[in-house]
Amino acid sequence: MKMYMFEAGILKSQQHFFTLNKGVGAAFDVPVPFTLIDHPKGKVLFDTGNAFETIHDKENHWGAILGAYDPVMTEDQWCVNAIQKVGVAPEDIRYVVLSHLHLDHAGCVGHFPNAKYVVQRDELHFAYVPDPYMKLAYIRKDFDKDVPWLILEGWRDDGFDLYGDGAITVHFTPGHTPGHQSVLINLERNGPMFLAADSCYTTDNLQNGTLPGLMWNAGDTVRSVNRMRHLQDAHGVTVMTGHDPEAWKSVKQAPEYYD
Ligand SMILES: [Zn+2]
Repeated sequence: MKMYMFEAGILKSQQHFFTLNKGVGAAFDVPVPFTLIDHPKGKVLFDTGNAFETIHDKENHWGAILGAYDPVMTEDQWCVNAIQKVGVAPEDIRYVVLSHLHLDHAGCVGHFPNAKYVVQRDELHFAYVPDPYMKLAYIRKDFDKDVPWLILEGWRDDGFDLYGDGAITVHFTPGHTPGHQSVLINLERNGPMFLAADSCYTTDNLQNGTLPGLMWNAGDTVRSVNRMRHLQDAHGVTVMTGHDPEAWKSVKQAPEYYD
């Protein structure tokens, strides 16, 4: 099994959105990562980055949220094109696991004709009727599509094993949003890697318990981060954070891979 990390461009933003009350107003450009896992039984995407429309028509597609998160992405970095540089076509993807349905993660729903889309029920529901402060982060036209959803039910499905072999498991990590989920990839050579996505944005959130600047529920956010810190400290799991510009510099990007 091979794991490829990609960057669907960056978001030009401000630090306090990622670390509460720290770096207020300071320019902070974060990567928009997504991951391709080449499993012998079928290829899997974890997140999909921004929609194609953000390249040429972002004002119209993202609207007022551009004031907080401004995407900069090339056509080559768009998820559907990017995976082709490691020889993978959109038709080859069997599962798309969505950490959550925010605009920088769910931008390519519907572009993988043979895929099931793995999402939490709480996320899908919340995405249609988000609380007002999170409304702008959900672009309904990105995810309101007639695709085959594989819907997971929170704690009841925690640890959902995608291929039944322990290689790729899906973990419920609510807090950032009500239905956030992360994946644990058990690699032979590089060991277990936990892809936190937005349940843990940065190393500061992970190591120092700094709260993120945007979250649905602070208590759940803390509990989800504590859980992955335990995985790291007690089980030697490598935690990959979701939007850390510093940590991202040492991540191997496709066509390099982890295995
Ligand atoms: Zn994000």
